[in-house]
Amino acid sequence: MRLIVVGGGIVGAACAYTASNLGAEVTLVDAGRDGQATAAGAGIICPWSEPARDPARYALACAAAREYPALLAELAGLGWPDVSYRQVGALLLPGSQALAEDAVQLLARRRAQTPEMGAVELLAGAQARRLFPPLGPVPVAVYIAGAARVDGRRVAAALTEAAVRLGAVVRPGSAELALGSGGPGAGRVAGVRADGELIEADAVIAATGAWTGSFLAPTGVSVAVTPERGQITHISLEPADTSRWPVILPGGTGHYLLAFDDSRVVAGATHEPGPGFDYRVTPAGLAEVLGEALALAPGLSAGRYLETRVGFRPVADRPLLGPVPGVAGLFVATGLGATGLTMGPYAGSLVARAALGEALAVDLTPFQLSG
Ligand SMILES: Cc1cc2nc3c(=O)[nH]c(=O)nc-3n(C[C@H](O)[C@H](O)[C@H](O)COP(=O)(O)OP(=O)(O)OC[C@H]3O[C@@H](n4cnc5c(N)ncnc54)[C@H](O)[C@@H]3O)c2cc1C
Repeated sequence: MRLIVVGGGIVGAACAYTASNLGAEVTLVDAGRDGQATAAGAGIICPWSEPARDPARYALACAAAREYPALLAELAGLGWPDVSYRQVGALLLPGSQALAEDAVQLLARRRAQTPEMGAVELLAGAQARRLFPPLGPVPVAVYIAGAARVDGRRVAAALTEAAVRLGAVVRPGSAELALGSGGPGAGRVAGVRADGELIEADAVIAATGAWTGSFLAPTGVSVAVTPERGQITHISLEPADTSRWPVILPGGTGHYLLAFDDSRVVAGATHEPGPGFDYRVTPAGLAEVLGEALALAPGLSAGRYLETRVGFRPVADRPLLGPVPGVAGLFVATGLGATGLTMGPYAGSLVARAALGEALAVDLTPFQLSG
């Protein structure tokens, strides 16, 4: 089976890795677009504290969080022992004792289905500050032990390198869909043209993130995926050992803090649906991110500004995972929005399996594109 995966973010990398592992002949094509979401994403893995308005999406996100350690063990076995994943826990900051108690009750109910959430504890403000020293005064916090953080760049790179080790070929370039003789709506996929050169395949997966609408346009199937710009700032607190600091989730604003091993604190992020693919750090974005971060954690003000990253989250009503109707052999894997670093490896592996005709442990019907 010859499979082309278009898109080298975390989703495409996971598709390429899984399919190579299952014996497919894989070509991964990536255009290196500015604003790849994977390269900008914060990397928080904590689906259990989300509102869960969409039960199918929530269940997928929880399954993805549960599957992470197994994937990491596989990668370790192949020679990538540390891809930056660390179960550092998360601190929710509900703002009052009553709200914190509500949050603990909700999480305790959810934990029955998702024990990987780990212990949930009510902490006094001073205890929270001991765990994350730059934090300002907070009345109370809720600690979720199973929450983790990961560097999306490193996970995607490890998955891609592991795929190559298993035989995949990486082809830099911008891909256009090549349809077979049946034409839009009635045909099958022939492959892609990468910078004009035809590469034939039995199946193609569009893991093209926020760019999926234009990639699939030749099929005539409308794909409601839009870019949501996120600006996110990195600050160094050298020489502090930040490697075990928990993720800080104040709730309500879409802003948060997390830390990595190299004295690095990441403050995110804007959620801007308006600017399309305008790849820029804006004064307004920077002011918003730094203003929220310093209000929450005044101790960050003494740090050193490192950089601000910009990424386009692929936003859809729901994840879009599975076959594209009317075009045999064509599949889509996108729409993971603000939780694609959590869901990407799992979602990509599911779509790769579907493309190879393998049985799936999960029903993808809720995530299928309508014709
Ligand atoms: C600021 C920010 C913070 C985030 N924080 C988190 C978080 O804390 N936790 C979490 O779980 N998620 C988070 N996310 C979301 C997550 O980053 C994304 O959902 C995820 O990375 C999407 O991955 P993807 O592979 O679908 O898309 P992308 O990573 O955008 O990759 C798409 C790839 O497709 C390629 N491509 C597109 N069109 C073509 C073409 N025609 N030919 C060839 N290649 C093409 C592009 O070059 C790109 O490399 C965050 C995102 C942002 C922006």
